[in-house]
Formats: sequence, structure tokens, C-alpha cells
Amino acid sequence: MRRKEVKRIRRTILFIISLLISTTIIFEIFDRLDKFNRNVYKKVEALTSNNKVNDEESIKNEYDNEVEENSSVLDNSGYIKLEDDINADDAAEILPKTMYEWNFYREDNRKIAYLTFDDGPSKHSTEKILDILKKNDIKATFFTLGSSIESNDRSSEILKRIAKEGHAIGSHGYSHNYSKLYPNRTVDVKAFVEDFQKNDVILKNILGKDFSTRLIRLPGGHSSWNGTEALDKVLYEKGIWQVDWNALNGDAEGRDFPKEALLDKLKETVGDKDIAIILMHDTDNKKGTVEYLQSAIDYLKAEGFEFRTLK
Ligand SMILES: [Zn+2]
Repeated sequence: MRRKEVKRIRRTILFIISLLISTTIIFEIFDRLDKFNRNVYKKVEALTSNNKVNDEESIKNEYDNEVEENSSVLDNSGYIKLEDDINADDAAEILPKTMYEWNFYREDNRKIAYLTFDDGPSKHSTEKILDILKKNDIKATFFTLGSSIESNDRSSEILKRIAKEGHAIGSHGYSHNYSKLYPNRTVDVKAFVEDFQKNDVILKNILGKDFSTRLIRLPGGHSSWNGTEALDKVLYEKGIWQVDWNALNGDAEGRDFPKEALLDKLKETVGDKDIAIILMHDTDNKKGTVEYLQSAIDYLKAEGFEFRTLK
């Protein structure tokens, strides 16, 4: 009897020990499987991000190529040339007499407003602005930004609509990066020209090989920076006209102002001028500009302004 009992106890102990060992083995297997999975995941992730870098690299290389190389496959947008555009004024004629002289008064009692929109096209605001302009049969000038065009998957469509509906398209460059364009607040002419050429390529690739604009607006404005004489010389040689503004709605000044404040700022800055080149923005964070636009048009109309574009 005693012997049998000892045997039973021994068997039980052996069973417990083998149970413990097998549990440990099973846990170890699971742990290793988990580590293996994590490694595989890391490798897949590394491969994908590598592809991303390659994609970015190839986009950069595309810019280095001349547009002319693939121009045969580009469709043209029907952008109206200055000579054929009844709503556009010749920048080469208007700007030296007005903006470059800072003289905005006319002898002939005509009052002209140039509505300008910078930094777009944007996903939501630009088309709402186009709708309002269309409803009022008014043409405006859009200073488009390459980096905005690239970050908006509908920009091709929107830019083509801007062209088709008879507005003017100017360039605001690609990066809007002050430290790159104006290190120590002084224009880096080479960096500036490259930045604007990059946007030219983007615009041509969307609007067609025949598209070109000789109208630009400096990010931050021409009068804000030092060393603009060197840039002006290059622009003059290239036949490019830069245009600042002499009126604004204040939508660039930080927060998204309510429409009433924007209209007040417009009235204040237009004052009694006969020519108003009005700075506004068609970016998505400036919802106030979309909301105020009709009231601004109504105000300018009541003040006797015609609406024209610069090309
Ligand atoms: Zn801007």
C-alpha cells in the first residue's frame, strides 16, 4: 500500500513538471513568433518609405527637365492672350505709371479695381470665389503658388477653370519660403528665379505648353525686402512684371477675421484712389474672404469701380 502511494505521488509530480516545461516551451514559441512578425513589419515599412524617397527624388528630377521635352503631350487650356482679352490691361503699360510710381489717381474719372488672390488654388475657397466672380461677371487675377498646386489633388481642374472663365493667372513662386528667397531679408536672385521657374513648369504642365505669364507677385511683397534692384534688373531682362498692392482686406494678418472687419479694412485702404490693386487670399484658412467677397464687390461697384485684370 505505501509503495503504491509513493508511486502515485511520484507520477503526479512528474506530470506537474512536464506540464510546466511544455507551458514554458509554448510561451517561448509565441514570443519568438511575435518578434519575427515585428521584424517583418519593420522591413516592409522600411521598403515602403524607401519607395517614397525614390518618388520624391523622381519628382525633383522632373523639374530639372525642360518643359519643352514633354510639351508635345500637353493639352492647352485656352488661356486668353492679352491681345484677345477685353478684360485685361497690359501690365507693361499700367504698372510703370501706377504701382512703380506709387500713383493711383487718374485724370479721366475712371475707377479701376484689380481683385487679386494669392497663395491658391485651395481645395475649398478658390471655387467658391470663382462662383461669386462668375455670378457677378467679374474677372480677377490669381497669383498661384506651386506648393499649393501640388498639395491639392484638384488643382488641375481648378486652374483650368480659372483660365477658361477668363481670369488672369500670375505666379507667386513655388515655396513661399522667406528664408530661402530672402536670406537676411535680402533677395537671393538665383534662389528666387529657380523658385519661380519651378512654378512655371508646374503651370505649363497643367495649362499647356503655350501658357506663360509675365506677371508675378513676390511672397511678402516687393517693398518688404532689400536687394530688389538686382532682382528687378533680371525681371526686366526677362520681360516679367512684378506687382504689389495698394489696398487689402487684411486677410493675411494672422487670424481669420469676420467678413465685416475685412470689408472695413478694404474701405479704409481703398480710400479715394482711382486705381485699387487689392490683395486677398484664396487659401482654405481664409474663410472670411469667401464670406465677405460679395459685399466687397457691391461696395466697389457703388463707388464706381470697374473690375479688370492685369496680364
Ligand atoms: Zn503669399
